[in-house]
Amino acid sequence: MYFRLFAKPSIALALAAYLIYWSENTADQKTSVILKPLMDSISLGAAYFSAGLLVLSGLGFLYSGYRIWRWQNGEIPFCSRCGSMVEIRYGRHGEFWGCMSYPRCRGSEGI
Ligand SMILES: [Zn+2]
Repeated sequence: MYFRLFAKPSIALALAAYLIYWSENTADQKTSVILKPLMDSISLGAAYFSAGLLVLSGLGFLYSGYRIWRWQNGEIPFCSRCGSMVEIRYGRHGEFWGCMSYPRCRGSEGI
């Protein structure tokens, strides 16, 4: 269940690592004179983008850790059906606590 919380920051981290690897490799490649400035700007853009992704994934890991900490302190209710974590969802009738195992579990609590 915890891995679901860390899935998004992990994907961002993996993407950032791949982009850094990719931009490092394209910078060294021998490209034609016409394509060289284009490739340079693309790899520079990828470098900035991956730096942003790194920051985002770091924040994501911190936020996920914070949510687990809150959950362990009993500040967030458990799902009454399966006992896993719940998160705030927005439905037709406003905010509610929805089970994180959705769609496997359809448990929900009113706020
Ligand atoms: Zn549940």
